[in-house]
Amino acid sequence: MELTENQEMYLKILDEFIEQEVQPRIKELDVQDEYPVWMQQRLAELGFTRLVAPEEQGGFGESMTTLLLLIIRGCQVNNTLGSLLNCSNNANKLLSFANERQKEVFLPRIVEEGRFMGMAYTEPSAGSDSKAIQATAVLDGDEWVINGTKSFISYRCAVGSWQVSAKTVDEEGNPGISVFLVDANAPGVSYGAHYDKFGWCGSDTGDVYFKDCRVPRWSLCGTVNKGLHISLSTLDGARLVIAARAVGYAEGAFEKAWEYASEREAFGRHLTDFQALQHYFADMYSSIQVNKGYLMHLVSELDAGHSIGKGGSIAKLNSTLMAQQVCQRAMELCGGMGLLKDFGLSRYYEDACVIITGEGTSEIQRNIIFKALQRERR
Ligand SMILES: Cc1cc2nc3c(=O)[nH]c(=O)nc-3n(C[C@H](O)[C@H](O)[C@H](O)COP(=O)(O)OP(=O)(O)OC[C@H]3O[C@@H](n4cnc5c(N)ncnc54)[C@H](O)[C@@H]3O)c2cc1C
Repeated sequence: MELTENQEMYLKILDEFIEQEVQPRIKELDVQDEYPVWMQQRLAELGFTRLVAPEEQGGFGESMTTLLLLIIRGCQVNNTLGSLLNCSNNANKLLSFANERQKEVFLPRIVEEGRFMGMAYTEPSAGSDSKAIQATAVLDGDEWVINGTKSFISYRCAVGSWQVSAKTVDEEGNPGISVFLVDANAPGVSYGAHYDKFGWCGSDTGDVYFKDCRVPRWSLCGTVNKGLHISLSTLDGARLVIAARAVGYAEGAFEKAWEYASEREAFGRHLTDFQALQHYFADMYSSIQVNKGYLMHLVSELDAGHSIGKGGSIAKLNSTLMAQQVCQRAMELCGGMGLLKDFGLSRYYEDACVIITGEGTSEIQRNIIFKALQRERR
């Protein structure tokens, strides 16, 4: 794929940042489960938080293709870097559904400060089944009062506003689910300890509690009981972002394994001289290319304003499974070294396992793909 001048420029800036500021701290990033505030600040200073926001909103108006290229590059090096690079995409997400007051209050947090619009959807009893939530929001005069516990919520330290789902009742008494935009520091919002988990080191994943959290009436996104439409409308981009992360992890693991296997000797030969291992490298490379090619095709469709339909789910499902397999194989190819944390390869596998579950598990993607096929064939 031929890069535009701008894409080359952004990749060059990112590469310099990686070389000078990320690589020297890579071990600390890989092992210490602490959110790197410095990285968020530096990415905002370098302008990455403005990347895809429209120019009239203080952004650079770059394409999603550019964003995904950067996310792939970031994830080749470190998961948090890839994650934080996605911040600017939150601006477009916000602009797609927010009212004027919400834009005024929350957009600057994203483009100027690099603080995410976090998703607080999952609950202890509602993961894939997002309609099973227990959180409630009740209108009291001019304020909504939100109560509930959200679990498995990521990048809590980095968030400026929460997109919160809650059960509501409309004026006719019909139940439904609505989405609210809530200041991350609003009274009534509090945070539990971060989980000790496998993968996504430094993502500050844990519970978010809403206890009699009173927010202004304008915090409601769209209309009452239409919340899930809002989340669905932003999913195309979100799934492609996950697929890009998958490609980044796979490429990072591939390069690391290639470098090691080219140097390591066994039975008087380099590992890359064994045909069995050459085939593994060929398989890994091929599956990365196929998934990357499909992803780049879809994102160009999205940039052209076309709907990608079930494509987002196909990309998410296949790229994440591909990344898990490639990263696992890369570890095996490096023998015992592949399992040492210090070696820096196992984290790709861990991160690849996480994205199989996030943004809709593989089974949920298959459900979506099958339903779309049924609709198309009726
Ligand atoms: C590290 C991490 C970060 C996260 N960050 C966030 C965040 O920032 N915000 C947020 O809101 N959530 C977040 N999540 C939550 C994530 O979206 C959920 O974990 C995911 O939706 C799955 O829900 P669950 O874990 O409750 O699994 P469950 O829904 O309980 O699913 C368990 C298993 O059952 C399968 N299953 C469930 N339903 C079906 C079905 N209908 N058909 C076939 N199989 C099915 C699933 O595929 C899975 O294999 C995060 C999760 C992780 C692990």
